[in-house]
Amino acid sequence: MPVLPGATREEILQVVRTLGQPDYRAQQIAEWVYHKGARTYDQMTNLPLSLRRSLSDLLLLQRLDVVRAQRSADGTVKYLFALADGERVEAVFLPYDDRTAVCISTQVGCAAGCRFCATAQMGFSRNLTAGEMVDEVLSIQQLSGQRVSHVVYMGMGEPLWNLPDVVKSVLLLNREVGISQRHITVSTVGVVPGIYELAQHRLQITLAISLHAPNDDLRARIMPVGRKWKVQELIDAARYYTETTGRKVTFEYLLLRGVNDAPEHAHALAKLVKGLVCNVNLIPFNQVETPDGFTRPESSRVARFRKVLQEAGIAVTQRVEKGHDISAACGQLKLETARARA
Ligand code: SF4
Repeated sequence: MPVLPGATREEILQVVRTLGQPDYRAQQIAEWVYHKGARTYDQMTNLPLSLRRSLSDLLLLQRLDVVRAQRSADGTVKYLFALADGERVEAVFLPYDDRTAVCISTQVGCAAGCRFCATAQMGFSRNLTAGEMVDEVLSIQQLSGQRVSHVVYMGMGEPLWNLPDVVKSVLLLNREVGISQRHITVSTVGVVPGIYELAQHRLQITLAISLHAPNDDLRARIMPVGRKWKVQELIDAARYYTETTGRKVTFEYLLLRGVNDAPEHAHALAKLVKGLVCNVNLIPFNQVETPDGFTRPESSRVARFRKVLQEAGIAVTQRVEKGHDISAACGQLKLETARARA
């Protein structure tokens, strides 16, 4: 049975026709869910009562529940949501001066095992459906009372290991919720076949690739996927992506003190990405307990790294950090909540 949120306009239309209703009812139902955030059919007061009763047999309306919210002094709010089967995922509301962003999860847990990540410590449970991903945005829109302009797929999970539902959710956010594809970023740990497959959809989204190291040995040390796909394979996939979609890619580079933040790493990184239509986004490590005891580099080391890239002609940004006073790194809130329950 199709589920709302998550059903496309065509899927809603099919249900409406099966029930012998005029086509415009599909538009009304979509508006209630994707714009007004209805949680029950009874809230859809412009639908006949008999239709509201029969809809639930053919089109399940199932929303996320908030379990916990952590508010930062800077306006960032981190939500822990319960899914229908009791699993839990995080999403973050990030208000900026010029936009309102939401960072969403794509899986319950994650199998990538990055050494610096709290989510990795939970292992993998299951993929989220397209509807659950869209609901993270809808629910935050309702809870915050603010319209979301940007969505980043950078929460728990590896989006390209859940590609069909990620693509479906991008299209729903674009067509039904009204968020521009250019305001949507999908982040990957570097799943090379997934990058080629995503390129075929020719979406106008931004692809962010977590590089985090300029050579295979160092990358494999901090990200197990580095043993599967070489850095050069990743760069080739990024080039294919930019050539196929006409969009530039962002290389995410997490700076870990004494691990990958030396000037020689910056020089190697510049050499690697030179000539690609890209920018490098530097992310000083957000302190979270990790098995390797990674720490955050001093700002002088970050500035030096950045300068090397800039002098090599590479476009560099540095993530505007938010939510420092709450558990803002991916997976932290879920991990803390689970530990407290235990
Ligand atoms: S950083 Fe992302 S891809 Fe890596 S383990 Fe964490 S959630 Fe998975």
